[in-house]
Amino acid sequence: MTNTLQAHVPGHKSNPRVGILSEYDALPEIGHACGHNLIGTSGVGAFLVLAAIADELDGSVALYGTPGEEGGGGKVTMLEADTFDGLDTVMMTHPIHADSMVDTPFLASTGLTLKFHGKPSHAAAAPEHGINAVDALVNTYVAVNGMRQRMPSDVNICGIIRHGGTAGNVIPDYAEMFYVVRADTWHKTQDAVDKILQIAEGSSAAIGATVESEMMKSQYAKFQFYTEDKQNDALKDVFRSNLDSLGIKVTPWNKNMGVGSTDFANVSLEIPGMHLMLKLDGTDSPPHTREFAEAAGSENGRKWLREAILAMAYSTIDVLNGDQTLQRIQKDFVAAAD
Ligand SMILES: [Zn+2]
Repeated sequence: MTNTLQAHVPGHKSNPRVGILSEYDALPEIGHACGHNLIGTSGVGAFLVLAAIADELDGSVALYGTPGEEGGGGKVTMLEADTFDGLDTVMMTHPIHADSMVDTPFLASTGLTLKFHGKPSHAAAAPEHGINAVDALVNTYVAVNGMRQRMPSDVNICGIIRHGGTAGNVIPDYAEMFYVVRADTWHKTQDAVDKILQIAEGSSAAIGATVESEMMKSQYAKFQFYTEDKQNDALKDVFRSNLDSLGIKVTPWNKNMGVGSTDFANVSLEIPGMHLMLKLDGTDSPPHTREFAEAAGSENGRKWLREAILAMAYSTIDVLNGDQTLQRIQKDFVAAAD
């Protein structure tokens, strides 16, 4: 990718190599409500700290600017382009309104657009000549809601209607909706997408309409989805102990803390990875709210930044210079594949 920033700090050995991801993005209207002003800069900060002690590192550090996390799938395209090849571990830090966590899981996720085609007609004078595309959409929406009770409880489906006709006196010949489908594995996500497609086709055929489907695309990837993540116990231990030395409380993740999706999960399937969730003081509101954006831009954001930089810098030193640390990380990565 031409717009991806990369920088390398060689230690006195080029291998092993730790990758630090400076993820950058923002949200429409609410700006840095996911805290990317902190996420991106914390990676740069950790990299600069490590650059200052490069001669003492038993390996090297690479910094990557990774764009388009909020649905754009920048890391998916970077993976496809082999951008992260040669990394032994990869890490980044994300702010969170709750206690810090080293074990937040991520759901697989994709988007599905459905385009229903019917036949226009005068809604009063000749309704029998029309095929109502909105009916096909509504029947699909209702049937998908009914399908939920037959789905595993961790499958999450949310649909919106993007287009529902233009005039009340015209039988609509076009309607469009968009689903976001998530589950704890990509396999389950795909299965739910297949079921939605079956329903859409059946609902359309029942009234003589047709439906086209399109999986989520982004400006970067041709076909784009986020996978579930893969966690690494040895890397969790490294971060837990460094957070402890910084006086930061770490809480085990539980279901009440909620769960989202990220393209870092795709990276973690290929390279042992840590997506640290670090507590941002000054807000009880979760990410993607105006309150969170305010906290991310406040003095609390500066404090967070210092902590994130040190947590990643200390952990990188442990991975590169620690006794058998990288071997344990690699062993866990292989074991987790079973
Ligand atoms: Zn976000």
